This record gives sequence, C-alpha cells and structure tokens, in this order.
Amino acid sequence: MPEKVLVTREIPQAGFGPLEGFDVTVLSEAPPERGELLGAARGAEGVLSTVTEKIDGEFMDAAGEGLKVVANMAVGYDNVDVVAARERGIVVTNTPGVLDETTADVAFMLLLAAARRLGESERVLRSGRWEWWGPKLFTGPDVWGKRLGIVGLGRIGQAVARRARGFGMEIVYHNRSRKPEAEEELGARYLELDELLRTADFVSIHTPLTDETHHLIGAEELEKMRPRAVLVNTSRGPVVDEAALADALVQGRIFAAGLDVYEEEPKVHPKLLDLENAVLAPHIGSGSIETRDKMATLAAENLAAVLRGEAPKTPIKS
Ligand code: NAP
Repeated sequence: MPEKVLVTREIPQAGFGPLEGFDVTVLSEAPPERGELLGAARGAEGVLSTVTEKIDGEFMDAAGEGLKVVANMAVGYDNVDVVAARERGIVVTNTPGVLDETTADVAFMLLLAAARRLGESERVLRSGRWEWWGPKLFTGPDVWGKRLGIVGLGRIGQAVARRARGFGMEIVYHNRSRKPEAEEELGARYLELDELLRTADFVSIHTPLTDETHHLIGAEELEKMRPRAVLVNTSRGPVVDEAALADALVQGRIFAAGLDVYEEEPKVHPKLLDLENAVLAPHIGSGSIETRDKMATLAAENLAAVLRGEAPKTPIKS
C-alpha cells in the first residue's frame, strides 16, 4: 500500500514530481478550515504544510501514530510545534537556502518604495489627483550611500546586504552571534541593537520568529530610531509590535515602513491601512515563480526521503 501523504494547500506542479508513487491528497487553494485540516490529517504518514497551517500536537494526534514527517514549504517554521513533533518522533523539515535572493529582492523593493514614496505617489496618480511636477512633491530620503542596519544577518540578511553594497550603502548589523566571514565579505560592521537603531537610516529585519524575537522591535526600539529612518520587515509579523509601529508612523517618529508580514495575517492593523507612509505587501517575499517551484520541490523531496527511510536534505535540528 502506498503511504498516505497530505498536501495542505495547492502547490506548484513541480512539487508533485517527488511525490509520485505515494497516495497524495491535496486540499484547496485557500487555507483549509481547522476542522477540515484535522479531518484530512487522519492516517497521513507525511504532511507537506505551508505557513498558514498550525501544525501542533493536536494536529499530530489527529494524524495518528503513523505520521513520520512534516515538510514545511517555508524556511520559517514558527507554525510548527517542533517540541511536540520531537516528542512523537516526527521529523520536521523546512526549505532554507532556495528563497534567499528572491526574499531579499522583496526586502529591497520595500526599502526603495518606502523611501521614495512609490505607494503613495502611485495612488495619487491613479486617482487622477496628479496635477503637476513639483520641486517638493513626493520627496523622500536617498537610499544610495546611506547606512543600512540589518537585524539577523543570516542567509536572507546577507543577500540584502549584497544588494545594499550595489547601492553604495554602509552596512551595519546586529545578530545573535558574530559573523566574521560576512563581515569580511560584505564589509559589515557589528553593532549592539541599541546603536544600530540609533544610527541606521534603514533597518531591515531578518530574524526568525522565536520567543526571543517576539516584539524585538517595539515602542521603545522605534523611539530610538532616527526621524528619517525607514523600517523594513520581511521576517515574521510578530517580530515587530504592529500597533507601536502604526503609532510611530502616525506621529511621524520615523519616516516610513515597508512590510511584507503582519502579526495576524491576513489581518493588518487598521491604522496601517490608512497610512500613506506604509508600503504594504501581502507576504510575497518568496513569491517568484522559480522560487516557489524550488520550495515545493525541496519540501516534497524531504517528505519523500523520510518516508523511504532516507535522510532528508534540510531537517530542522531542534
Ligand atoms: P537564517 O539564515 O537562520 O538567519 C536568521 C538570522 O537571525 C541568523 O543569523 C540568526 O543568528 C539571527 N537571529 C536569530 N535569533 C536572533 C535574535 N534573537 N537576535 C538577533 N539575531 C537573531 O534564516 P533565513 O533563511 O535568513 O530566514 C530568516 C527568516 O525570514 C525566516 O525565519 C522566516 O521567518 C523569514 N522569511 C520570510 C519570507 C517572506 O516571505 N516574507 C520568506 C523567507 C523567510 P545565528 O546565526 O546566531 O543563528
């Protein structure tokens, strides 16, 4: 009997290649309701999940004792209870490395758009309210030559730093551990978070969401930032206190923000929605056609490897 595999969302076709030979059930394009997800889990030996599914102990128990692997189609795995998985002997895998450049593109896109007021000015143009070119119209801070502070200089953070070098930016970073190789390669200088926030013109967040990084950027941290600073978050929503950020933007305490992720996706803090100085993307960081193919393929390869009794390429070490 082929092993039962549950794919929790419709994924790119490329992801089904490695799943050939398994008994595959695919749920819908939209995120499944919790009850549907738990019902569909029953009897699954492998689950290919995405960031929208909460894969916790309840889910694992609903699947039953046969569940061997949860292959998350994302590098972040804050949606998976890795402790509950370990207790049950379930392997968890993620998709690191295949999405770095694509996600860094979106971080840099948001950085540029927020600084140079693309969202706001495009809305004016589209609504027919653009009347003339003006010497002071839609001006924002320069990006080139400025100081970029990267919080979390891992794979994606370093890919952002490489882009910033092309813009002649000075790169400073804060990270849990020092990164001597990256310092050498990127000319990046380590700073304590406090000094980074006080001196950077742009702050881009690239840590995972953990207990330590929850609300890493809150009211106090925003207060330290420069009045013309721009904050970019493509990591996970809860790393930034969204209400505090909205207040800082309303009060003009920082210049602008570019966000791809939110605390309660798909809900966005209502104050942010009304702000001209917030550029808001709907969690599209890894969303290039090529990268989503690679993510789906890697997740499926990991899942298939575990079910065949082989070592997966990218297991989560917890
Ligand atoms: P990574 O290579 O593991 O890099 C994360 C970095 O954050 C590491 O250098 C890590 O330090 C550092 N870090 C962890 N905890 C920290 C803390 N408390 N304070 C300071 N630094 C800390 O991960 P990645 O592949 O770059 O991905 C980063 C995150 O981006 C993912 O976890 C995911 O949530 C998010 N992401 C979002 C999208 C999107 O669509 N918007 C797409 C992909 C990824 P150490 O080196 O000391 O561990």
